[in-house]
Amino acid sequence: MRFDIITLFPDMFTAFLGSGVTRRAFVAAPGEPSPKGRAGAPKPKLVDVRLWNPRDFAVGNYRRVDDRPFGGGPGMVMMVEPLTECLNAIRADREQEESGGGNAPVVLFSPIGKRLDHASVEQWSVSAGAVLVCGRYEGIDQRFIDAYVTAQISIGDFVLSGGEIAAMALLDAVARLQPGVLNDEGSHQLDSFNPALDGLLDCPHFTRPVDWNGALVPDVLMSGHHADIERWRRDQRLRITTENRPDLLAAARTAGRLTKVDEAGLTKKR
Ligand code: SAH
Repeated sequence: MRFDIITLFPDMFTAFLGSGVTRRAFVAAPGEPSPKGRAGAPKPKLVDVRLWNPRDFAVGNYRRVDDRPFGGGPGMVMMVEPLTECLNAIRADREQEESGGGNAPVVLFSPIGKRLDHASVEQWSVSAGAVLVCGRYEGIDQRFIDAYVTAQISIGDFVLSGGEIAAMALLDAVARLQPGVLNDEGSHQLDSFNPALDGLLDCPHFTRPVDWNGALVPDVLMSGHHADIERWRRDQRLRITTENRPDLLAAARTAGRLTKVDEAGLTKKR
């Protein structure tokens, strides 16, 4: 899986690619050693990340990458030419590495895009990757979008000052789904939104100490009673989803994922 990132701020990715569990999945540059993984664990699938700066493809003394918007108004717009040159270089490089690689999807991060969710992250996590375009300023020249962009992705109903954090959000979510990346195999299946838990939100977690200034860990978690613990966690997931995301609860119910015991627990609490 190979992601090529078009960004005016490649340095923003350095700490991200080298930190946390996901660093096991990332290869930051061609020729770097493959991720090692942990002893006995499956070797993580490579998430090969390459960074490209459109400024390197801009011409003139000032290597201009942005200009004022036609029609007036505030701010600047990323210019179509450096972006196109940059994309052409990426496509040539991908094609050289693998025949057909140059046809990878071109994704633009934008508030006007389709909102990212677990289902689309799962699809990306088994894909061959993409070219990810990080906008800056007011955004990028529409002609680049019309000519090359195959999908636009938003990470939420708010506005960032650049697409870099959105790109990192996607890369992080994709990397943690790769086998061998998280410490516990399959632990992501217990996370919020996972179909394995019917798309519900996560339950509360506790660790030592048992007594923190009089706040105790729920008895059931100390009982060693596996079935009781699972029932408690399920009830917590149902309660939290009902309170915070009634839309997800309704979806689980419509899909027939709630049992009679689930419904009984929900009625009791109402
Ligand atoms: N004028 C644009 C906002 C530009 S913000 C608008 O009103 O829609 C600058 C860049 O930040 C964008 O080009 C985009 O790449 C990125 N960005 C901002 N908010 C984002 C979001 N919610 N999701 C994904 N990318 C975002």
